[in-house]
Amino acid sequence: MKASAFSYARATSVANALELLVAYGDKAKVLSGGQSLIPAMNLRLISPELIVDIGEITELRGIAVRGGVLRVGALTRHVDLLRSPEIAAYAPLLTEAIAHVAHPAIRNRGTLGGSLAHADPAAELPASMVALNATIVVRGQARERRIAARDFFTGIYETALSAQELLIGVELPIAQKSSAHFFHEFARRHGDYAIAGLAAQAIVRGGLFTDLRAAFFAVGDRPILAKAATKLINVGVTPTVLAEASATLAAELDPQEDQQASAAMRRHLAKILLARCVSALLGRPDLTPGGTL
Ligand SMILES: Cc1cc2nc3c(=O)[nH]c(=O)nc-3n(C[C@H](O)[C@H](O)[C@H](O)COP(=O)(O)OP(=O)(O)OC[C@H]3O[C@@H](n4cnc5c(N)ncnc54)[C@H](O)[C@@H]3O)c2cc1C
Repeated sequence: MKASAFSYARATSVANALELLVAYGDKAKVLSGGQSLIPAMNLRLISPELIVDIGEITELRGIAVRGGVLRVGALTRHVDLLRSPEIAAYAPLLTEAIAHVAHPAIRNRGTLGGSLAHADPAAELPASMVALNATIVVRGQARERRIAARDFFTGIYETALSAQELLIGVELPIAQKSSAHFFHEFARRHGDYAIAGLAAQAIVRGGLFTDLRAAFFAVGDRPILAKAATKLINVGVTPTVLAEASATLAAELDPQEDQQASAAMRRHLAKILLARCVSALLGRPDLTPGGTL
């Protein structure tokens, strides 16, 4: 199938893009890497009247560290995140997560902003932003808003962005010396969307978690920052403590059922992921089901 007829505008600046978005309202769509937008248009899931191509706005591209904060522009491509020494040094969870996003051809064009605005609940980057406690920066004509990642994702393909706003970039606190991370997903093939996944960022001191942000994906309508993880903070983690946290996790998740997995299977996989995460980050193979990582 081919997309319905549409008009095309190449925005010359953020201000110009916002003028177009305000003029067309819900009838306009922003184009970044096009890796999700164009397939959706070709399938006629959406039929915007105007495409606002922001690909030439260089101020939206790039990775910089300033004042203890890692800033990443919305137009930064997946491949640039994967190869960035700053990301590897200051947010290594992201380097690991991005390697699971699709395939090289898609990573060469897909962008961080596009992935976050698209808000697929099975995508790796939204959950990574929640785990990393990122701030999402969005701009409209009247004002700029800074939204905590955990509040940005509001449902399946839904975010706090309005049709008249642009996602400008993200700000990430840089990893501390005692930071540790875990990323794993279950997928049919490497590069597929996950059936269930976990991105986690922790601080481990003296064999204890003093912080643990465990963001699950593909097990709900948005990335889920597990409350169950708080049961593992500042306590000696025994198999009993882990089993309690695991039961809490199963109760707080509300996974969807589809052709890939039942809700019960997704809950089960989430519990396995939590156990592997805790075991790996604390260096405790005894906590992993079966004793292996
Ligand atoms: C075969 C295939 C496999 C894939 N597998 C995966 C996978 O395993 N994991 C994964 O996470 N992704 C996967 N993707 C999606 C890919 O990562 C996309 O690149 C990403 O979801 C969207 O990024 P984009 O820059 O291409 O955005 P676009 O397609 O250009 O835009 C996506 C949406 O976001 C909006 N948007 C884009 N940028 C902005 C902005 N700055 N401000 C406001 N709104 C904006 C657009 O209007 C559109 O609604 C896959 C895609 C394909 C085609």
